[in-house]
Amino acid sequence: MLSGKIAVITGGSRGIGAAVADKFAQAGADIAVISSGSGGLAREVCGICSERYGVKALPYRCDVADFEAVGSTVAKIKEDFGTIHILVNNAGITKDGLIATMKERDFDAVISTNLKGAFNMIRHCSPVFIRNKYGRIINVGSVAGLMGNAGQANYAASKAGIIGLTKSVARELASKNVTCNAIAPGFIRTDMTADIDESGPLLASIPLRRMGAPGDVASLAVFLASGGADYITGEVIRVDGGLAM
Ligand code: NAP
Repeated sequence: MLSGKIAVITGGSRGIGAAVADKFAQAGADIAVISSGSGGLAREVCGICSERYGVKALPYRCDVADFEAVGSTVAKIKEDFGTIHILVNNAGITKDGLIATMKERDFDAVISTNLKGAFNMIRHCSPVFIRNKYGRIINVGSVAGLMGNAGQANYAASKAGIIGLTKSVARELASKNVTCNAIAPGFIRTDMTADIDESGPLLASIPLRRMGAPGDVASLAVFLASGGADYITGEVIRVDGGLAM
């Protein structure tokens, strides 16, 4: 389904990003996996993908919030793989707090990673997509960007920003055969949600009565990167068990 395609996945070392890496590789894509940590987990994800599916898979350490670092990482990926066809902007963090006491640095950190990180990646990959007259950009937002969430003003603002970014890029690059869509997950079981008690009020707010799995989000990412979605752009699709409908 994605053989011959080269995909860059940010935040691919764990959680949703690792599931996207696995499903993309299973679909035949070669993958460049970006993470901010020491690279051990990303290396592990790449090792599993290349062994299991026979694709090329390489890890890269890069802070997506750093414009210059993203530029050199994208250049290195182009050198290693030849080109880039698909970009999944998945790297994200939370630094929750009530608005009346939220620290400025916590607001800035979340916007820098979640929103500016996606801008940095798109900014550096889009010249390649424009030259190729082909590109598939998939941004991971959140239902928090649609609904807001008490205690997550920084995070919800970053994810609402992802929606505006997605629609603007979709309009701007459509004539170059570059699509840009967003996925808005609800509660997905990963490290990010490890503290959430999946019972009582939370469960009652989800019509499907369960948290999602990383693979639920990854399956949609594969679809949005595939030929079946060639006529879809500027869309925001929830993967939330009905939470935000
Ligand atoms: P996670 O398990 O905490 O993983 C986050 C990933 O992002 C890790 O691979 C991490 O790399 C990477 N990352 C963080 N900051 C980075 C930076 N500055 N530069 C590069 N990579 C960075 O998170 P997750 O739950 O899978 O979430 C993935 C995405 O889905 C995020 O955008 C999140 O906001 C969104 N989302 C998640 C949920 C949910 O319920 N889990 C719901 C809605 C939306 P390291 O391993 O190196 O730290």
